[in-house]
Amino acid sequence: MSTHYDTQNIFAKILRGEIPAIKVYEDDRTLAFMDIMPQAKGHTLVIPKAEAVTLLDLSADDAAYTIQIVQKVAKAIEKALDTSGIVLMQLSGESAGQTVPHIHFHLIPSSIHELRKHAAEMGNQEEIKATAEKIKLVLEQL
Ligand code: 5GP
Repeated sequence: MSTHYDTQNIFAKILRGEIPAIKVYEDDRTLAFMDIMPQAKGHTLVIPKAEAVTLLDLSADDAAYTIQIVQKVAKAIEKALDTSGIVLMQLSGESAGQTVPHIHFHLIPSSIHELRKHAAEMGNQEEIKATAEKIKLVLEQL
């Protein structure tokens, strides 16, 4: 059984353009944007546009497509920030700690041993914008 989708969740609002986000990639099925409370520099979120709360609610087709974009954005992050190693995280369900009820994949260029606290502290938005510009530049060339 699929989880009820709340169309007022924050990522649905970002998708509708009702609240701003620092975007790095968008196509007709997915959006990638910077996390507002990064657990490391370059923390990016990739979401399918389909209305799904958890991975279990997502169609296999959307899951397959989204993971390809996750891979593409991961490559761009590594190249743009000249780092190696990305923590890919996906929390499915409140009991797993999911705080925004629209499925998303976290891409965090860091080590699992060095992550900052989850969704805890606002990042410097100017710094995040500058990082996003670097990632966007690489993505345009992929
Ligand atoms: P979750 O706990 O659902 O796996 O992760 C939600 C993520 O969304 C957190 O890392 C949190 O920092 C981020 N987040 C929460 N609200 C916003 C927002 O309004 N804009 C952006 N860009 N990220 C957000």
